[in-house]
Formats: sequence, structure tokens, C-alpha cells
Amino acid sequence: MKVLKFGGTSVANPENINKVKSIVASLNDPKVAVVVSAFGGLTDLLLQTSQLASKQDQSYKKGLEEIEARHLSAIKELLPVQSQSSVLSQVKSDLNVLETLLEGCYLIGELTPKLSDKIVSYGELLSSFIISEFFRFQGLDAQFKDSRELIITDEQYGKANVDFDKTNAKCQAYFSSINHRITVLPGFVSSSRMGNSTTLGRGGSDYTAAIIAAAQQAEILEIWTDVSGMYTANPRLVKQAKCVSHISYEEAMELSHFGAKVLYPPTIQPVLSKEIPIAIKNTFDPENPGTLITKNHNGNGKTVRGISHVGNISLLSLEGPGMVGIPGISKRFFETLSLKNISIVLITQASSEHSICVGIADDDADAAAYAVNETFAYEISSKKIKPILVEKDLTIIALVGDNMKSHQGLSGKMFSTLGKNNVNIRAIAQGASERNISAVIKKDDVKKALNSLHETFFEENTKQLNLFVMGVGNVGAKFLDQIRQQKKYLKDELKLNVRVVGISNSRTMAFDENGIALKDWESVLAEGQPADRNAFFNQVKSLNFRNSVFVDNTASSDVAKSYADYLRNSISVVTCNKIACSSDYDFYKELKQLAKQYNAPFLFETNVGAGLPIIDTLKHLIASGDKVRKIQAVLSGSLNFVFNTFNDSVTFHDVVKQAQEQGYTEPDPTIDLSGVDVMRKILILARESGHQLNIEDIENISFLPKESLETNSNDAFFESLKKYESDFQKLYKDAADADSKLKYVAQFEDGKAKVGLQKIPRGHDFYNLEGSDNIVLFFTERYPNQPLIIKGAGAGADVTASGIFADIIRIGNF
Ligand code: ADP
Ligand code: ASP
Ligand code: MG
Repeated sequence: MKVLKFGGTSVANPENINKVKSIVASLNDPKVAVVVSAFGGLTDLLLQTSQLASKQDQSYKKGLEEIEARHLSAIKELLPVQSQSSVLSQVKSDLNVLETLLEGCYLIGELTPKLSDKIVSYGELLSSFIISEFFRFQGLDAQFKDSRELIITDEQYGKANVDFDKTNAKCQAYFSSINHRITVLPGFVSSSRMGNSTTLGRGGSDYTAAIIAAAQQAEILEIWTDVSGMYTANPRLVKQAKCVSHISYEEAMELSHFGAKVLYPPTIQPVLSKEIPIAIKNTFDPENPGTLITKNHNGNGKTVRGISHVGNISLLSLEGPGMVGIPGISKRFFETLSLKNISIVLITQASSEHSICVGIADDDADAAAYAVNETFAYEISSKKIKPILVEKDLTIIALVGDNMKSHQGLSGKMFSTLGKNNVNIRAIAQGASERNISAVIKKDDVKKALNSLHETFFEENTKQLNLFVMGVGNVGAKFLDQIRQQKKYLKDELKLNVRVVGISNSRTMAFDENGIALKDWESVLAEGQPADRNAFFNQVKSLNFRNSVFVDNTASSDVAKSYADYLRNSISVVTCNKIACSSDYDFYKELKQLAKQYNAPFLFETNVGAGLPIIDTLKHLIASGDKVRKIQAVLSGSLNFVFNTFNDSVTFHDVVKQAQEQGYTEPDPTIDLSGVDVMRKILILARESGHQLNIEDIENISFLPKESLETNSNDAFFESLKKYESDFQKLYKDAADADSKLKYVAQFEDGKAKVGLQKIPRGHDFYNLEGSDNIVLFFTERYPNQPLIIKGAGAGADVTASGIFADIIRIGNF
């Protein structure tokens, strides 16, 4: 015999019921039991309607109307008019009883668990009857059988316990007596020894099918649902989840216990001892092989087979000095919960015995807390035990796999993945079987936790990076362009899935949870909402994506001030904006500290020398134990341009004007010409070498006359340059006479930094520096005489964008 169970979605409407019929019609087994759920959503509707009635809310009648309409219209669509009347009269008579029950509930203003079971059983009773009639009309040799006549339970309404002796005997007697081939039965419903309707718990139709399969020693139990099997994680929350083709009973049981709703947890028990395989199949893709659950499997070499989660969990913690060494506390604690019929999903106890902590359903939390406080009233009043602590709205997340026990490091990997993503863990449990490791986390973190664990354990090391880019001017636009071009390479070769989830300029901002299509970013941004720095941050925070990176391509000090907020939420920061690293030392230090504390890199390679790997090289030197003795560098593209172009046949004024016009200087050229920009850069290098320096500590030997520096407009500045032309010509002549070139040099030595114009003699490393190139010489303990030299283009949107890109890849490899 074969037992098939079709879930709510599979029978939600006539179109789906037709699919079910095709699956059943294609079988040629001599005996088939088909267990069906209520039409999709009907159980919830029945429960809501009865709740409304019990609250004496007239609107329950609307629910009733909907219940009636769904069944009557199904009959009308499934059966031709001439075959409808007998089915309609049976169903209408059942609906009349349901109406009377609800009316009673409304009049008395009460809904007992017993009445609730009676009412809710109509979902399955009606669906199975209608489907059996439809099968018959379609020419199948089918009969309806009320499961309440076969499955006998105790009187624990809502989730009754099966009396297997009686049930097995009744099933065997029934199935051996019948002559028809296909029996259609309602799932979920049963009856007590006293003959009252009971139910097997939400999702219990799976269990009905398993009970029948076990009683009949069926060759297979097929659970037909709306997904193609048991997945590595809930496919509705983890897009990358994959179907597990073969899994053991124990693994399936753990996964379902921890929330893989595709299988109701008790389902496995009856079939396990008889070794009846379970197949999980998709009604909407019947050819898909789905998942096979059996006693043994090879695990396909995988240790972790799935990740599941159960929501709406509360943690109850019992703590106090009076618990240590006193026998019987745990017993009384668990007994109290058991007497209240509260099931425990997870238990942890500190080895100090100072506390016991259990996870239970949120719905049970208040009753549990009340009962436990009563049990320990004496100890609480004498301060030996604290009143029970209740934390609600939590979720348990569990890694499951039979072979996990023989592998070290899995829990380490699990917790470090969660830690890196700033998922706070409230409690941990590992079953003695080591078939699961579970952690209790906040509800808001579930999606992030599931996805990052899935990435760690199932996705061939592909790591998703979620970028939030502020500033899409020259550099930002180039950066987005580079990401777009390299996306495929990054994914294929570096196993990095880089997505840009949010972008903003000073006018608008836009987000797309699935990643912004980078070829359209301009139009997406143009249609975005008004830009707002705080709203941008709040959105990044509430999306709560794993591996989030904030990329600052602005030069704004307000944006720089927000870095701490990002880091505190474990959102990495990559910036080409120099302000944060060159402002107050304490702020710079705080950001570095936050980055460490929250496991979120703070990277700013482009602050010095654009795309040149200057800061990264310096970090590596220091990390490997080297010590910086001296840094000498030419770090200003604008000043290079000016002094490479200036000579005795042009005026200094004209050269600076040209530099400004060609975009080699800041709009305010004094920022470059005064040396402030170079001061910031050498300051950052000094700080990265481990020195506590502020900008005021840097000596600036300015070549500009005081008057030029103090001008308050560009026009006045340029006028002053004209006035001092002879001084500039003298600088040039002195250098030329000494066979030297003028270079604006930054230097750091013995803890002191200075910047200024220098005459560089022929043969010096700086002498032949062209255009906007930068050069840095690191003299260190390992490079004492011949310095380590980094040289190349040190300005420009393209190289700056590629420097930011490099920082993103560093985070990818973090
Ligand atoms: P049915 O009505 O057919 O009984 P359920 O809604 O009870 O269906 O169970 C199927 C659902 O289980 C899927 O739609 C999916 O959202 C959910 N689910 C949760 N975890 C998993 C998992 N690991 N694999 C497959 N489905 C899962
Ligand atoms: N209809 C019931 C429920 O929704 C049982 C089931 O579908 O398995 O819980
Ligand atoms: Mg189900």
C-alpha cells in the first residue's frame, strides 16, 4: 500500500485539486490511501471565526460566509451540475451543523478546547469528502473514510495523543475489509475514546498519513506539498537554499523539531520503527525527485545537512545563589512546566548550576512564569532564587546533521559567523547526540543569521557583500561602473557576490533589497526618495544584511561623523574621504576601536595616494613586526603639476590658474597650495605607523607668502600670486641653479612630521616624478638604507575608484 498526503496549498482550489487528481490517477498500486488537509488557509479561518464568535463579535458571520462560499464554489467548479446535488446536500448539512456550533459559541461567549477541535475538524472533513467525490466523478475507484473512525486518541484537545493499539487495530480491520482501491481521508482529525472529535496539532495531517502508513506497513509515505522537498533552509527566507535529496529520519526529525514546517515533527516516529521511507514531493512539480527520508544515507559528504529555525520563543531563566548544590530544583522546575502542559523546546544549564534556562513557546510564557514563581515562592521570598526572568520574541536557530559529531570546529564556525554579523546569541544548546547545535537569537536577526549560516555551510564559500554607497560623483560613478564590469569575475573567481543595495547623492537616495541593477543606477537614483543621511543609516540598519559595507565617496565632514554609528552596528566602512582619519586623534582612534570591537573593517586606503597600496603595505609591515623609521613622500598631485609646469618662461599665477581650470586642484586652490591636503596625508601615515599625532603637531613650511594664505576669495588669492611673482621666480632659479627640481615633500621621522617645498637634486628618487604621480619611501628596520618605494598615479577618479574597490575585496576576504 502507498500513503499520500496532500497539504493545504495542494488542495487550496479546484485548479490545484485537479493536479492532485492527476498525481493519484497516475498510480497503479493496488491500494492507496490519500490523506488531505483542509483547503489552504481554511484551518486559520475556522479558528479565527470561532475566536470572534466566542468574543461575541458578530463579524464571525463573515468568516462563516467565506467558509461556506469556498466549499460550495469548489463543488460547483469540480463537479458537473447533474452530479452536484447529493454532494451539495451533504456539505450543506455539515455547514449547517458548523453554523449551529458557531452560534452556540457566540451565544455562550465561550470556546472550549473541545468545541474548538470540533469546529476546526470541519476543514478536513469537508475537503476530503469533496475531493473523494471529485475523484469518483473522474472515474477513480475512490471512497471517503472518516479518519475519526480509525484514529483514536486521548482527550487532550488541540494536540491529542494517539492510542496506537486501538488505532492500528482499527486501521488494519478497515483496510482489510475494503474492495475499493483509493481511500480518501481527512488529515488532522481523530476521535477520543469517548467518541469526541480531537485534532493532532497544527500541521497534523502529515501525522495522520504517517499513522496510517505505519499501521498498514505501507511501502512508502509520500508527503505532497508546495516545495520540492526538504531544503537546506526554509526556501522562503533563504533564496539560495537547495533541496536535500536524501536525509536520515533523525536529521529530518531535528530539522522539523526546529521549525522546518514542511514536515510536522511527530510524523517520523510511527514510520521510523517500521523503516517506511518518506518522500517529500512537490504537487506543482511532480517530476522533481524531492527528498527521500530513510534510515541511512551517505550524507553526500556533508556534515551539516540543514539549518532551521523556530520563532515565537521565550527564554525562561531561573537563577539564584540558592540553586547551587541543592538537589531537586531542576526537578521542581520541569515538573511545574510539565503539569501546565508546556513543552520545552530547548534547555541549557550552566555547569555552576547557578542558572537553568529553557526555551518555550511565547504563548506559554506568561503561564509558565506565573507557575514557576508560585512553585519557588518560598525561595524567592527568602532571596535564594530570583523571580523568573522572561525574555520574549526570540527565535531558535539550529544546525543539523548526523555527522556533525565527528567534526571539530562546527560550533566555532557557527558562532563566529553569527558574531561577525553582529547577531547576538542569548543561549546555546548542543544535544548530547551532537546531531544539532542550536542558538537563541533575536527575532529581527533571523533572516540575516539564516542567510549567513547558509553561506558559510552550503554555498561553496560564496560570500555576499551588501554595499551602501553614498556619493556618486566622479569617483562614486566610476566605482559603480567597475563593480558592474567585475561582478561576474568576482563571483566566479573570488567567490564574492557583490551587490549594491543602496545609493545616495546629495539629492536623492534609493534602495533595492535584491541589489540595484547597476546599468540603471542613475535612473533608479533619480526616482528615489529625498536624500537624508539619517534615514539612509536607519534603512541600512533595518535591512540588517550580513556583510554590509557603507562606502563614503563624499568629502563631507557630516558623513564622516556617521561612521561610528555604522561600525557600532557591525557595518563596515570604506571611505576615500580623508576627514575622519585626519581630524581629532581620539575620533580616529575610536573608529579603529569600534571596527575591532564590532568585527567590521574600517578601511581608507584611498586617503593617501588614491589607488596606490600605501596604507595596506604599511599595515603589513607593522603587522609583521617591522618598525617605521622614516617616511618621505610626495603626495600631492596638484602641487606636482604646479611645480612640474612652472619655470622662468611662465608666471606662477598662470600655472596655478591652469591647474585649477584643469581640475588638478580643489575648487579652493589654497587647500592644496597651503599644504593642508599633504599634511592630512602624512598625518594618516604617521598614525597608521603607530604614532599619536594631531594636525597641529605637523610643521608646515609654507612657500606661499602669508598674505596669499590669508586671502578670503579665489580672486584675491590669484591677485596676491601676481604680486609675489618675483619670489616664486627666485624659488625656481635657486633650484635650477643647483641642478634641482622643486617638489612638495612630506616627511615623518622620530615622531615628528613636516611638509614643505624642497629642492630635489638630480638622481634623487623624487627628481623624475611626472604629472600627478605620488611616491612614498618607507625607511624601516628591514629597509634601512634602500627604502621600500611605492610610486604611481596618485590622483584621478579611476584610480581612486579602484582603490575603494580593493578595500571592498579586502572586506570580502576578511
Ligand atoms: P503543507 O500545507 O503542504 O503541509 P506546509 O506549509 O505545512 O505545507 O509546509 C511547507 C512549507 O514549509 C514550505 O512552503 C516552506 O515555506 C516551509 N519550510 C520551512 N522550512 C523548510 C525546509 N527546510 N525545507 C522546505 N520547506 C520548508
Ligand atoms: N489543516 C491543519 C493545519 O492547518 C493540518 C494540516 O494542514 O496539516 O494545521
Ligand atoms: Mg504541513
